[in-house]
Amino acid sequence: MPAADPFVIVGAGLAGAKAAEALRAEGFDGPVVLVGDEPELPYERPPLSKGYLLGTVEREEARVHDEGWYAEHDVDLRTGVRATGLDPAGHRVELATGESVRYGSLLLATGSAPRRLPVPGADLDGVRYLRTLADADRLRADLTGGGRRVVVVGAGWIGMEAAAAARTLGNEVTVVEPQPAPLLGVLGRELGGVFAQLHRDHGVDLFTSTTVRELRGTGGRVSAVATDRHAGLPADLVVVGVGVTPNAELAATAGLEVQNGVVTDATLRTSAPGVCAAGDVAAAFSPLFGRHLRVEHWANALHGGPAAARAMLGQEVLHDRVPYFFTDQYDWGMEYSGVASPDDTVVCRGDVEGGAFLAFWLSGGRVTAGMNVNVWDVTEPVQALIRSRRPVDPARLADADVPLEELVGTG
Ligand SMILES: Cc1cc2nc3c(=O)[nH]c(=O)nc-3n(C[C@H](O)[C@H](O)[C@H](O)COP(=O)(O)OP(=O)(O)OC[C@H]3O[C@@H](n4cnc5c(N)ncnc54)[C@H](O)[C@@H]3O)c2cc1C
Repeated sequence: MPAADPFVIVGAGLAGAKAAEALRAEGFDGPVVLVGDEPELPYERPPLSKGYLLGTVEREEARVHDEGWYAEHDVDLRTGVRATGLDPAGHRVELATGESVRYGSLLLATGSAPRRLPVPGADLDGVRYLRTLADADRLRADLTGGGRRVVVVGAGWIGMEAAAAARTLGNEVTVVEPQPAPLLGVLGRELGGVFAQLHRDHGVDLFTSTTVRELRGTGGRVSAVATDRHAGLPADLVVVGVGVTPNAELAATAGLEVQNGVVTDATLRTSAPGVCAAGDVAAAFSPLFGRHLRVEHWANALHGGPAAARAMLGQEVLHDRVPYFFTDQYDWGMEYSGVASPDDTVVCRGDVEGGAFLAFWLSGGRVTAGMNVNVWDVTEPVQALIRSRRPVDPARLADADVPLEELVGTG
């Protein structure tokens, strides 16, 4: 490998920026190029549906590093530049500027993009998605001041957080979700129902088992949402949160193994020599869960970027973290660790109705996932329980007087 070839990172989000930081922290003194198609400095997305949308978090606070950091660390940050092609045999990345950059090692950290709503009228004005700072700026302008009729399509995390922010800002909010409960895929029916109640208690009209058929407009702007149960829910604004798809086109076109994301081993190396992937775009093998997982969470980008950087440097790496996620909705703060399946049984401890509790998902008597709502500093024992794979007694798990550490076997 010629010493002058830079380490190139495609995707200047959290995973990409953290990978650049880790390369320097590990003492790599060769050239580093960080390419991102957004016009922004790398930033974190969680505030976009929470504090930034509510106007309580400043734009700068969302940045991964401040403006001077990239020059100070000799990272060649190219914002507003899209990588358009990848030639793994020639070790080259093509950029939209027409440049062809030969890389010593490459990281794909291209993240994911919102799925579009596949119904007539979805391209009307006033139909919003929420992925980028630019999206958040538009939505914030729409919601601030309140008094608008907002229909949120999709009761996943983004939809529920957007609904909470819209309500908090004084808008009328309706949520339409085809599944029988919000967040069904992650939480299951029982805990999804708890989040449904939270939103209803805050004045959201939540219609589950309801599918959007069409968005109707007046003068090119959305004015109503037709569902299989409603002729037209009035809407000044529609926020669509129906999931994301990984930005894996570069890898797929170049012939890398892609299956719901860029497939990697547990060291985040892809099927192409010298190419790693991290963050939302990576479908990485999880030794803990014994299968490939694509994790669309902040913590996975935060830790996966640096792990991939170490793999690029040829170090021994094992990216084997328990998936972790957090959300804030109204006065609920929640953390979730693990991966539950729809057939898992649920055990709760604490005050579910009062909104201060833990929930566990069990398969074969072993904890697969755990969630804490307005109860803090339990992530470590919850993750230890998941890792231990020890069968636990559901009655003791439900008993708040039994320390979690005791169930892990460390208490
Ligand atoms: C509104 C919102 C709220 C969220 N809230 C939470 C939360 O509360 N908790 C949580 O755990 N997770 C949350 N997430 C998820 C979390 O933000 C993502 O998991 C994280 O951003 C993934 O980071 P990433 O670096 O892998 O990808 P991204 O953040 O998507 O960054 C990838 C970057 O690469 C760019 N790119 C793509 N293709 C190219 C190309 N060909 N050339 C150049 N650049 C390219 C993209 O435009 C993007 O800027 C939230 C996400 C959103 C959108």
